[in-house]
This record gives sequence, structure tokens and C-alpha cells, in this order.
Amino acid sequence: MAGLVLKDVRKIYGDVTALQNIDLVFPSGKLTALLGPSGCGKTTLLRIIAGLDTPTRGSLSLNGDDITTLPANKRKFGMVFQSFALFPHLSVGENVAYSLSISGVEKSTRLKRAQELLDLVQMADFQDRRIGQLSGGQRQRVAIARALAQEPEVFLLDEPMSALDAQLRETMQVELRLLQQQLNITTIVVTHDQREAMTMADEIVVMSNGRSEQIGSPTDIYQRPETPFVASFIGKANFIDGIVRGGRIFVGDDAFDLEKPASFVDGAPVQLVCRPENVELCSVDETSPNKLTGSVSFVRDVGPTREVFVETNAGRVICEMPSSAGAFVAQGENTGVRLRSNSLLCFPGQAPAAAGKQTLASASHQENVAA
Ligand code: ATP
Repeated sequence: MAGLVLKDVRKIYGDVTALQNIDLVFPSGKLTALLGPSGCGKTTLLRIIAGLDTPTRGSLSLNGDDITTLPANKRKFGMVFQSFALFPHLSVGENVAYSLSISGVEKSTRLKRAQELLDLVQMADFQDRRIGQLSGGQRQRVAIARALAQEPEVFLLDEPMSALDAQLRETMQVELRLLQQQLNITTIVVTHDQREAMTMADEIVVMSNGRSEQIGSPTDIYQRPETPFVASFIGKANFIDGIVRGGRIFVGDDAFDLEKPASFVDGAPVQLVCRPENVELCSVDETSPNKLTGSVSFVRDVGPTREVFVETNAGRVICEMPSSAGAFVAQGENTGVRLRSNSLLCFPGQAPAAAGKQTLASASHQENVAA
């Protein structure tokens, strides 16, 4: 099969299982992001792909050839590290030409190639500068040019934007994606930033505890998360505990209908998940399904959107609307909130006694979507 294929890859360090049962296909010419929280195994997986580490079990193949035991220097993979790892004593041009000199490419050819690559990353005017005289974004461009010098079959990037400030990071994400599309090179990017993954990737692999939780396009992962973890890690989500009765979900006495009736058995505890932009404010007196009532505890305008925090008897529900929307409720007012049935997701839940108070998922991930 074309592309990079991992079969049942596992990595065990002593008593730590860093990766378990990883089956993945990285299609040729596509950009795949490995996304997940700290410690989920992203870097371990990238190092195994690069040949810098060996899997405890499993195999890797590239375009049908087994590369499981092929040493890193024989893989023809280009890699950009978090730190960029440039040589400070060499000029920009020499850094880019370095790997070509190791491969025995003659001097005039390597300088020409370095010039072409520096052109490509818009650094042609910096050829003679020292690395210490460059900004973070310029260093990153040099690191990318250097990694591309050997025309790698696979391009690997480990948190390539983490050393850059927020604004530059956004710009470089777009630039890197455009460059990858122009070169049509199979690329794998490790990141813990969901915005970065969504900006750049054809496919995202969401990882958790050494496992791949879900693989899909950015839209799939956001609109159709397959687990509560994915729903909480990608974007924001309201989580509400309920019980199934007669194909409907009940949260206390309030009934909720899903577009497709719940397939859970009667009495099963479930967790409803709804993105804030799929929650609408409505009148307290409205008697429709999919509605809760509560009091507004907080309102904030975050640029184009307004968020209204409503404390209901099922926990906090956040409603997000355009800032220009006419409907406005003030802190302390009572309001209804209606969850759109066509965007309600339902997962197996915990028994009521064990279920805690529901809140908006994953405060620690909110910085990823707040920008
Ligand atoms: P981060 O985003 O913080 O870089 P990560 O998702 O890249 O995290 P890894 O660095 O792959 O995570 O680590 C996965 C797990 O394996 C962690 O529990 C880590 O402590 C463990 N681990 C990684 N390398 C080693 C090692 N050389 N020896 C022992 N344990 C290791």
C-alpha cells in the first residue's frame, strides 16, 4: 500500500506502556497530525517512525517495503525538532547544505540546492547570516529547508511551532501547509494544539494513553467525535448526564430527543454532548424538548462570539452565539437553553451516584479554542 503503514506498533519502557496496538496508515502526499495531551505517546511514535527508537512489537512499511529495522540514516526521512537543532557555528546556507555534504554531494551542487530551498522558505537573503542572528520564525524556516535538502520521502515535525509566539505560529502554520501542498510530500506533525492540527492536517490522529482514539478529517473529528475524550479535547463541549427511557433521554424530568433515537437500553446512564454553538437561548416558559432552565452566571464577549454561562440543575451549560446576535441576557437573569437535536451526541455514561456535577469539558484545553 502507498504511504507509511504501521501495524500493531507497541512501545514499552520498563513498566511504562508508551504505545499500544497502533495501527495507522499515513497516506502518500498528505499531512497527518498526531494530536493529544502531554504524555500520550506522540513523540515516541514519531521517533519510532523516524528510526530513532525501535518498537517493542509491530512493524512499519513504506510504500510496501518493510522498514521496521532500517536505521534512521537509511530512511530518507527529514525531521524538524522542537528546538530546530541548527548548528550555531555554521551560516544559514551551510546549515541547509550540511546533510548534502555528508551524502557526498559536490560543493557547487549543494550550494545551489541550498539556495533553491532558502528561496522556497523565503530566506534567500539570509544565506550568509549566523543562526544566532535570526528570529524564531526565521530559524524555523531554516530548519525546514535543512530537513527538505535531501528530498525526504517522509517529512516529520515534532511540535514545530512551540518556540514561536502565538501570532507567528498562526502565520507559520498556514505557510507550512502551503509548502507541504506545493511539494506534495507525506508529512507527519506532532502537536498538542488542536487549532494547529485543524489548520494544517488532512487527517488528525487523536491520541490518548498510548492509543489512537480517533482518526479523521478535522471536520469529522470536530463534528463527529467518537468518544467523550475526543469531544473534550477538540473544541469545547457541554456534558450532561441523563438516563434512557423509552428511546428518549431524561435529565431529571426534562426530555431530550436525538435525531436518531438512543440505541441504549432503558435505564442506561448516558452522557449527552453538545457544542456551545449548538445551544440556543430560549424563553424560560418554552415547553419544547431538549431544553433546560437556569440562571446566567457569566457573560463574555470574545471578539466575534459571545458566551453565556447558564447554571442549570444538570450543571453548567455554555451557549455561544455571534456577538452581533440581538438576544442578550444579563448576569443573574433566568433563561432557557435549548440543545439542537441534530447536533446532540450521546455516549454511555456513569451511573448517577458516580457521576459528578457536569461542567463544560476540559478547562485545560480551552486555550486551544479561545483564540
Ligand atoms: P509531550 O507532549 O509532553 O512531549 P508525548 O505525547 O510526546 O508528550 P511521549 O514523550 O511520547 O509523550 O511519552 C509517552 C510516555 O512514555 C510518557 O509516559 C513518558 O514518560 C514515557 N517515556 C517516553 N520516553 C521514555 C523513556 N526513554 N523511558 C521511559 N519512559 C519514557
